[in-house]
Amino acid sequence: MGKRIVIALGGNALGNNLPEQMIAVKQTAKAIVDLIEEGHEVIIAHGNGPQVGMIQKAMAELTRSEPEKYIPCPLSVCVAMSQGYIGYDLQNALREELLDRGINKGVATVLTQVEVDPEDKAFQNPTKPIGAFMTKEEADKMVAERGYNVIEDAGRGYRRVVASPKPQSIIEIQSIRDMVAAGLVVVACGGGGIPVYKTEGHHLKGAAAVIDKDFASCVLAQQVEADTLIILTAVEKVAINFGKPNEQWLDSLTPDEARKYIAEGHFAPGSMLPKVQAAVEFAESAPGRSALITLLEKAKDGVAGRTGTAIHQ
Ligand code: ADP
Ligand code: MG
Repeated sequence: MGKRIVIALGGNALGNNLPEQMIAVKQTAKAIVDLIEEGHEVIIAHGNGPQVGMIQKAMAELTRSEPEKYIPCPLSVCVAMSQGYIGYDLQNALREELLDRGINKGVATVLTQVEVDPEDKAFQNPTKPIGAFMTKEEADKMVAERGYNVIEDAGRGYRRVVASPKPQSIIEIQSIRDMVAAGLVVVACGGGGIPVYKTEGHHLKGAAAVIDKDFASCVLAQQVEADTLIILTAVEKVAINFGKPNEQWLDSLTPDEARKYIAEGHFAPGSMLPKVQAAVEFAESAPGRSALITLLEKAKDGVAGRTGTAIHQ
């Protein structure tokens, strides 16, 4: 029986620059089409760290060199641009792989806005570094002129830091559901989604933030009523005592075990921790739901129960 699967693609599925991404998406498309070929319904979400950094840097350079001509580009617009660029490459790679295997299926990217709470505590404590490194003088200027938050980043210079609020809901969810129901392969919630919040009337305003793609994928998986959330990353399994002599790779994890290991600090904040938290939240959201964390190349084996770390009640 085919399952409905939300796949969250990590950085290694997309590479770090334009040529790397062109190559990486071919492998990514193979892994995804393997699942489609087995009769699963697939919805794809992805990260955008290097891509949004590149776009933000390019837009900032434009403002810096021609301030009279170009006003600063809001971060929400940079996220939207990254969704378009990554969606373009994914759509093409998937189209080609599907056609090569004789599968007649449309692929479409939804520019996805994700609602955040403007009162989210993350806005008071921006922690996520983005964009280019700056000198102390440049950083002071940005703070004074644009109200940016900056930090000194590990001796390498100054960087803007932005908030990473929790995703609340997906604005385009009905469109995504309709497209899935119509049999399309949908790419949505790229880069965690374009962060927006509601103002007066029906107006949505872009927020200067980036949403964690693992948390956004968890909301997406719940709202499309997926059976499985698969988080594809750079490790085959989740470990406790990661990188230590007593490292132990886990085949499965219950939500209670996960909470115990989280409390003991086994999962690095900003990398494995959000994945385990997203997996637990999804696994507990309804009976029969499970999550899987594994390598991109092992997606098919993972779904068949042969590898990866499965998270279920
Ligand atoms: P992605 O781009 O897929 O989100 P991240 O780099 O954010 O990837 O997170 C995956 C990384 O988390 C792994 O490559 C690994 O180095 C690291 N990691 C941290 N803690 C653990 C752990 N306990 N078990 C496995 N991997 C871990
Ligand atoms: Mg990550």
